Amino acid sequence: STLDPAAGKAVYDADRAHVFHSWSAQGLISPLAVAGAEGSYFWDYDGNRYLDFASQLVNTNIGHQHPKVVAAIKAQADKLCMVQPAFANDARSEAARLITELAPGDLNRVFFTNGGAEANENAIRMARLHTGRHKVLSTYRSYHGATANAIALTGDPRRWPNETGVSGIVHFWGPYAYRSAFHADGEAQECERALAHLENTIVFEGAQTIAAIVLETVVGTAGILVPPPGYLAGVRALCDKYGIIFIADEVMAGFGRTGAWFAVDNWDITPDLITFAKGVNSGYVPLGGVIISDRIFETFRERPYPGGLTYSGHPLACAAAVATITAMRDEKIVENAKWLGESVIGPELRAMAARHASVGEVRGLGVFWAIELVKNKETREPLVAYNAAGPAAQPMNEFTAACKARGLWPFVNMNRTHVVPPCTSTEGEVKEGLAILDEALTVADAFCA
Ligand code: PLP
Repeated sequence: STLDPAAGKAVYDADRAHVFHSWSAQGLISPLAVAGAEGSYFWDYDGNRYLDFASQLVNTNIGHQHPKVVAAIKAQADKLCMVQPAFANDARSEAARLITELAPGDLNRVFFTNGGAEANENAIRMARLHTGRHKVLSTYRSYHGATANAIALTGDPRRWPNETGVSGIVHFWGPYAYRSAFHADGEAQECERALAHLENTIVFEGAQTIAAIVLETVVGTAGILVPPPGYLAGVRALCDKYGIIFIADEVMAGFGRTGAWFAVDNWDITPDLITFAKGVNSGYVPLGGVIISDRIFETFRERPYPGGLTYSGHPLACAAAVATITAMRDEKIVENAKWLGESVIGPELRAMAARHASVGEVRGLGVFWAIELVKNKETREPLVAYNAAGPAAQPMNEFTAACKARGLWPFVNMNRTHVVPPCTSTEGEVKEGLAILDEALTVADAFCA
């Protein structure tokens, strides 16, 4: 019904004439005009359909156009589109109640934002005011958003052109056994050495100057780095020892992505603050937030919180969150994500790793997996160099093109492709996508030495 190449061309032309795109050299892109989407697929105006193995930007955990979420947004639009944050609102109250019910420990309050970057900005603000300290620690290999502090926290090249004007951010190395920063042999040693490195960083920065440590519970875009057993408990212990606030960034890892409601649930850890966005309502209407522990909440019981947003707790976004969380519970969508990881994606990826010269490592959990591509399995030299662009990125560009030509929309970052389909995916859809990746990896194998 959306097959209309002329309409697609008009959309494309107006985009090229007037839309300024994220992260791009404006003259070097040709955005696909998307006509529609449903479940695990989206399509263009020319009749090409793609299996969305990226869940857009790893956010449509419930798939495209879930009928209950669409209906809830329509119902809320009829009832009340907007009321400013100082009022109480039924959709917002219920979203906050559901989110805190799911969150671990004493994380009993929610400050709503429009997305993940603002969530991290506000979490840092809370930690600084609560502790009276200024510095914030985060890892190399991370992404925390594109606003001032969030991009400064980020440990990937997108920080480099954005470093002006922000002070007090210190980076350290997190665990990543496959490319250990600590010359460690195996996960246990990696964990031990990563924690020793973090404690050294704290001591040499001066514990009394550090407000917070911000970590992606499972690092997302920067590599799907699953922490080794004991690491997050070790970070929790260091935070307790030195009076530092533990902020878990679950913008990408939260709301089912790892096969648990929150990624911290996989290791039974309670941070002081959790930041979320994306999966909370699959991004049908922009929403993010900070889930706040009782202790930090108390800091602002008598003292005003100096932060706010016109759209904090927007009724349409909160109604979408209520419907999303309810549908995810009723339809056992988080359980499905866990099952897909354990029974389908994990075993299939390990088999593919054995077949392909270009696959150095596969890792992940739930519907949150990375395939790390290398030139040589022995040396582990990445298939393309860190931050490669232009001709240097050719092997990954050809791999990406091979996926798209076969009807798969992949998530590609540097020398990795991530397997991040919706949590609602069926076994058949996941197998269809993995079979395409399998074929496309043959293209990558040709670049191996
Ligand atoms: N934190 C993490 C871990 C993310 O993956 C992202 C976005 O990809 C963000 C923060 C920023 O979220 P937003 O783009 O909604 O500002």
